[in-house]
Order: sequence, then structure tokens, then C-alpha cells
Amino acid sequence: MTRHLRTKQLMLLLLTIVALASCKQKTEESIEAVEPMVDNILLKEWTGPYGGVPAFDKMKVEDVKPAMLQGMELNLKDIDVIANNPDAPTFENTIEEMERAGAELDRAFNYYGILSGNMSSPEFREIQSELAPLFSEFNSKITQNEKLFQRVKEVYDASQKTPLEADQQRVVELTYKGFEMNGAELDKAKKERYAAINKELSSLYTNFSNNVLHDEENYVTYLTKEQLAGLSEGFSKSAAQIAADKGQEGKYAITNTRSSIDPFLTYSTERELRMQVWTNYYSRGDNGDEYDNNKIIVDILKLRRERVELLGYKNFADWRLQNRMAKTPENAMNLMEAVWPAAISRVAEEVADMQAVADKKGDNITVEPWDYRFYSEKVRKVKYNLDSDEVKQYLQLDKLTDAMHYVAGRLFNYKFTPVPEGTVPVFNEDVKVWEVTDKDSGENIGLWYLDPYARQGKRSGAWATTYRSHSTFDGEKNVLASNNSNFVKPAPGEALLVSWDDATTFFHEFGHALHFFSSTVRYPTLNGGVRDYTEFQSQLLERWLSTDEVINQFLRHNKTGEPMPAELVAKIKKASTFNQGFSTTEYLASAIMDMKYHLADPTNIDVDKFERETLAELNMPKELPMRHRTPHFGHVFSGEGYATAYYGYMWADVLTADASEAFAEAPGGFYDEEMAAKLVKYLFAPRNSIDPAEAYRLFRGRDAKIEALMRDRGFPVTTE
Ligand SMILES: [Zn+2]
Repeated sequence: MTRHLRTKQLMLLLLTIVALASCKQKTEESIEAVEPMVDNILLKEWTGPYGGVPAFDKMKVEDVKPAMLQGMELNLKDIDVIANNPDAPTFENTIEEMERAGAELDRAFNYYGILSGNMSSPEFREIQSELAPLFSEFNSKITQNEKLFQRVKEVYDASQKTPLEADQQRVVELTYKGFEMNGAELDKAKKERYAAINKELSSLYTNFSNNVLHDEENYVTYLTKEQLAGLSEGFSKSAAQIAADKGQEGKYAITNTRSSIDPFLTYSTERELRMQVWTNYYSRGDNGDEYDNNKIIVDILKLRRERVELLGYKNFADWRLQNRMAKTPENAMNLMEAVWPAAISRVAEEVADMQAVADKKGDNITVEPWDYRFYSEKVRKVKYNLDSDEVKQYLQLDKLTDAMHYVAGRLFNYKFTPVPEGTVPVFNEDVKVWEVTDKDSGENIGLWYLDPYARQGKRSGAWATTYRSHSTFDGEKNVLASNNSNFVKPAPGEALLVSWDDATTFFHEFGHALHFFSSTVRYPTLNGGVRDYTEFQSQLLERWLSTDEVINQFLRHNKTGEPMPAELVAKIKKASTFNQGFSTTEYLASAIMDMKYHLADPTNIDVDKFERETLAELNMPKELPMRHRTPHFGHVFSGEGYATAYYGYMWADVLTADASEAFAEAPGGFYDEEMAAKLVKYLFAPRNSIDPAEAYRLFRGRDAKIEALMRDRGFPVTTE
């Protein structure tokens, strides 16, 4: 599910409130007032063309720690100046100054992000773990700054009587909310308890993920040569290598991770082994030994409940969802429960199709969970006859890049021009940079950095991030955005061919970049994301990959130059709803369970029993498990990022399906000018400066409908 990570987002998560406090550039005054000399290159003001660019060519790992330490110190000084201002608190001297604070640290974090995400090293990881507790302390120093909070509160209270301009009002409310949600209003005793709970939770989260990691590393299934039937040569080779690395030369290792079990369960004809591999995987954290997570989960649920009760909330879900688009757990549950019946009835159809294939082959089995992937692959071959290698011949990375620029030109009126080599510093020669301008005015929007290839030390997957976000409150800032992928670098002169899935992800991440570029917000805080909303824009942009304009101009055979044939396009589109029963049900079971655990009374909860009984109430099909069973549901229990938030993927997907129907129905289809203008104006440009639900209503004239998602997944629509 996490096919991309946004470096900046991760850091902001880590620093929570600091996200509100650390931002842009200082005024001349405050520089003179508080700053000592800054020598470290990572902290320095950016110079050069395009409004200044990061000095990626000059960064060194040894500069990181001193830069971060000095950056935090400078940020805390900024905060002190704000907190101790003798003048009465105003929007300008408190909130706006907070938007301005910590510019040096913000700059240093851009280099930190590259060194951790794009070119990590053992040397850097050591610095990372030294810094982690210091970041946490730094964070507390701001969130628990009594004087600072009192000033924020005064501005907030005043704004409730005499509202500020709409966007300023929103910055004040988001800032205040951030403090309030994290216990700033509690009395001293409760604050201490609050901090103690957080400390305890953080070790429980670590123990939880370490236990899962233990079970992933220690339940390896070793195969002999005779047990490889059905598996591809490539897979077997890598399994042999893994076994050899583990000291089992001559055997083949199936490790207890998704990337290993998925292909094994899909292709292995050894049913007994499939059962064993499946059982190991879905028992992680649930083996009744010292690495069992059931007790830890109970402790986590209790502490979370106690913590939000200190703040006056009924349960964790109410607290968590108040500033999300869904707003309440009921709204999120309503969506999930509306889709659930169709998902499980599609499972019944899929199981019937699979059973028919098994019977026809004379396999003499009843479909069990360890058979699902195996027989669904057989059904896929019969029904769709789609050759992924044939598709690849039409997907060249260079042409896809051109296609994305073309789409951005049609929808956003942007022009992408490669910057002359050497004018903008990069951290690796493979990174390419384009200038983004408005097609008519020629005005500079920003720079787009693309780091396409895998390398040692680069994290897996694909992600988008910004080095500089748009804001206007201290003069207009242009945007520096980047896309990052892990394609294998081709030999010189050879085309880089990618899969349909990878092409889709490439468009997805570019959607995040366009969301950054199109921002029109005045204050940095308003660039922030709302978890169940920020994936929507990027998911939506994926839809332009299969438009006729893109197919005919850019999806051309790498040898013949012919555009992708209509029959092949039709096959791809038809296959898009295949196996939706399985994927929707396994996802939803986890998402519903996540919510139910946090709504239930944790006092005497028995995790194992709760999971079994809840699934029974839901009529969970016996042929498949939850995507993440409770004892290894890291999204929810190894941290707080996705706790009562796992539903967010589907929430964003409803918007995606509904918005893409609006385009499909428009006179000009996906390139309809009026629709494109509304897309930019309401869905992209405002970022978080208006409530996302309100923004969507402005775009569509109504709320998104679940029926669009049902149609998109090929489920029957009963109501309209
Ligand atoms: Zn994304």
C-alpha cells in the first residue's frame, strides 16, 4: 500500500508541531536579532538561479549533525523570541512569525531527506539514530512551550470573535488545533501523565515492530530442488541466493515477507507448502511465545484511550478524525460498510470461478486461503489473456516523461524545459532538472527534479517531495519539487521499458508534484496535507495514462514506433477490475477492524477473540484473511500514522473515481478545458487552505458518490 513515501511528510510527521513552526525565509530584522554566524553549508541561504537552489553538489555527510544541532538551536531561539514578545499577541507577531521560524533547520532537512532517502549509507544511519531522540526532545520543547501556546490561544480566541481573512483564520485554527490535540491545554499533572503515556507508547510501538520483524526473519521455509514446481527461474535463483546467504547452500528460501510469499503462493503447485508458507505469514506476532503481540496491542489500546480521555474525547477515533476529511468514525465506517457487501459477494463469484478451474483440472480440492492467489492466476489467464511483456514494449520511460509534461500542459498550462546541464546543482549525475513555466506568460513556476534510477542506499519504491513550497506572505516563492523512482538504469542508448503498474505509479507521483506546483497559498502551513485527501490528487492523475491523447502520441512501440493497438488497450482496461473481490475484501477487513478496535472498550479486550468474533459478524469469507491480521498490523500498532486512518486509501479512492467520471462525462473528456480549470482552481491550487470537503463540492457541485467507486471496481450498483 505504501508504494511511495514523501520524505518531507515523514519528517513533518516526526516533528508534528514543528511542521507548523518551521518554514520559509526570515526577515532582515529577525536575522540580525537572533542569529549568530552560520557557516555550515546545509544551513545557508540558497543562492544561484531560479530564486536560489539547494547546494546539493556541496553537501557532505559530516556536515549533517552539526547542521541539525545548530538548526534546532536557531529554531528554538526563534520560538523564544515569539514566546517572549512583550507586545500583545497578534496574528502578525505570533502566527506569522511561527510560519517564518526555523528557516535554517528547514533548509538542512532538505539535505537530510536526500541523504536518508536517495543516497543513504551506514555512516549516515549512525548519525540518524543519534539524532532521533534529539529531534523528539526538540519537538517537546516547542509543543510544551507554555508561553508560546498562551499567545497562540489568545490569537485563536480573538479570531473566534473577530474573524481574520479566510486563509489567516485557517492557519490560526490549524496551529491552535495542533497544540490542543497534543495536550497543550492540560493542567500540569495531566500534562505529565500525557507525556508519560506517550513515552510508554513509543516503546510499545518499537516492541511491536521488533516482534513482527523477528517472526519475519525466523520463519523461513526452505525448499529442495524437487519442490520448485511452478516457480519461475528468476524467483528460484533469488531464493537459492537467499538460502545460501543464510547458510543453507543448495536449498531455496521462502522468507516470511510479502514480496516472497506473494509470488510463491501465486505460482507454486505444492499445495502443502503453500499452506505452510501462508500459515507462517499470517501468524506473525501471534505465535504464543515471547514475540507474541496480543498483550502489547491491549496495552496500546488502553493507553491510547486513556490519553484521549485526558483531552476529553470518548475514543481515539473521535480524536484522530476530527481534522481529517471524514471528520468522524461514523462517516468512515459508513463508506466501508457500504462497499463491504459487494466486495464479499464478488469474492463468492471469484471463488466459484476458481473452484470451476480446479474441478476442470481434476485437482479434487476445495479452495482454501492458501489456494486463492494460485487459482486466481489461472482464472486470469483464461479470462484476459494479457501478456505483460507485450504491454511493456510500448512503455518507454522517456516517452512517459514527455506524456506527463504534455498532460501538465493541457490541464495546468505548464511548459517543461530542461535546464542547461550544470546550471542547477544535483546530488547525482542521473538527476535531471526541468524549468516549469506558464505557457502564456512565461512566468517561472519552479523546477522539477527527476531522480529515476535505483542505486545503492536509495530507499525502494517511488515518492515525491518538495525542497521549497509555494508561499507569498514573505514575497512569492517558486516551487522546487522532485519525483523519485527505482528503475534499473538501461545501457547507454537503450530504451528503458517499464510495466503498466510502474507507468501508473510514475503518473501518480507526478500528480503529487503538480499538486505542489499549483499551490496558490499564502502561508506554508496551508501546504500541509490531510491524510485521507492528499492521495486523491495523485490517484486522479493516474487516469490520464490511458487517455487516447497519451496512448496515440506517447505509448509507442520501442522498435516499430507504432502506437499501442486498441485491442491491447481494451484488454488492459478490462483486466483492471479483475480480482477486486479479493483485494477490496482483504483491505476492507483490515480497515474496518482498525476502526472497531479503537471504538471498543479496551478494559477487558481479548484481541484474538475480538478479531474472530468481529470477522464472523461481518461474514468474512473463509477463503481469505485480512490483508494485515491484528498481531502484525504495523500501520496501526507500530506507530500512530495509520491508527484509525487505514480507511483513508478508500476514502481518497471514492473521490478519485467520482472525479474521473466527471471528466469522462464532460464534452471535452479528460481534456475538457472548463473541467481542467475547475480541477486546478478547486482541487489542486488551494492545498489545505480550505476544507477538503468544501473544495470538492466547489469542483463537483455535490459530494462524491460511493457508486462511482463501485462502478470503478466493477461492483454492481444498487442505489443511486
Ligand atoms: Zn501518493
